[in-house]
Amino acid sequence: MPILVITDAGHGPKAGRLDPGAQADLDRDGILQVDEQEQHLSRRYLAALKARLDTLAAFQTFAVPDSLDDPGYSDGHRLASDAAAAHGGPAVYLSGHLNALAGDRLVEHAIVAHYDRSADSAVLAEHLARGLARSCAGYVRSAQVLGVARNSAAAYQRRLHYCIRGVGVRQVDGRTVEVPNLRAVVLEPMDIRALAGTDADTERGLQAIADGLAHGLLAWAATLEDR
Ligand SMILES: [Zn+2]
Repeated sequence: MPILVITDAGHGPKAGRLDPGAQADLDRDGILQVDEQEQHLSRRYLAALKARLDTLAAFQTFAVPDSLDDPGYSDGHRLASDAAAAHGGPAVYLSGHLNALAGDRLVEHAIVAHYDRSADSAVLAEHLARGLARSCAGYVRSAQVLGVARNSAAAYQRRLHYCIRGVGVRQVDGRTVEVPNLRAVVLEPMDIRALAGTDADTERGLQAIADGLAHGLLAWAATLEDR
């Protein structure tokens, strides 16, 4: 059975307003444009990943649409959980973002965050982090796996948890039912400012992210076959 990969880009249009996420003047022309926003760039690397996976028989893909009129991510989480339950086989939810911190220092590592009580998601996160560390070596020093929870001590970790909080559970006849075949991670593959330069430089960086994620997913898929 193919692996269902559900992509959901963070930020973007929400309830009639655009949440740009992080922004950076990538082409250094002094103007912040829409294509220099996290919401746009995350969609691009997830689209590149989806295009790659769609050529491989081992995967089936589903992109959470932007048309959801949802100020949070709950509708996307619900859609993903329903799609995974209908699929029945292994399923993956990827919440796509770009790293950004205030200040002058670039964030030097990729982060792949998972719900800290999900061992299956942690294994997937490890493989994705390894793929990103290799393909994005020119952009980040390392890739880290981070377990996050609703009550994590750090606000940053609680924000990451918010991006996957409703993935993997469904409401059926008033009861909460788990979707055990669905793993969920949040991707912060590089600092948005690492994509600065010409359009070709930006494209190269986004492709490096997509390549790393594809490698990670393939490596993880191989572990499923071993079982
Ligand atoms: Zn974000």
